[in-house]
Amino acid sequence: MATAQRELCDELQNVPLEDMPSGGCIECLEMGDTWVHLRYCVTCQETRCCDDSKNTHAREHGIAAGHPVIRSKEPGEAWAWCYEHGAGTRLAVSA
Ligand SMILES: [Zn+2]
Ligand SMILES: [Zn+2]
Ligand SMILES: [Zn+2]
Repeated sequence: MATAQRELCDELQNVPLEDMPSGGCIECLEMGDTWVHLRYCVTCQETRCCDDSKNTHAREHGIAAGHPVIRSKEPGEAWAWCYEHGAGTRLAVSA
């Protein structure tokens, strides 16, 4: 039986909680494309689209740039995700 609690990776223990800028996926906007949800790279403060979006720019950027941690930029959502470790956490911010 699995009783062990999964430990958070280092990145998720120090997620910056600054206000996120408004605006859509910077890569989709450049391509004239659309997205489903928005994700915010906490490393370079840029916005890209989620895994449900056809372009999955946030994941591609996270892997390619070595910026694995994103925050959800959806209204009312306060969580972060690490693409490198496939783990997430809730954040103590009011959305
Ligand atoms: Zn991680
Ligand atoms: Zn995009
Ligand atoms: Zn980044």
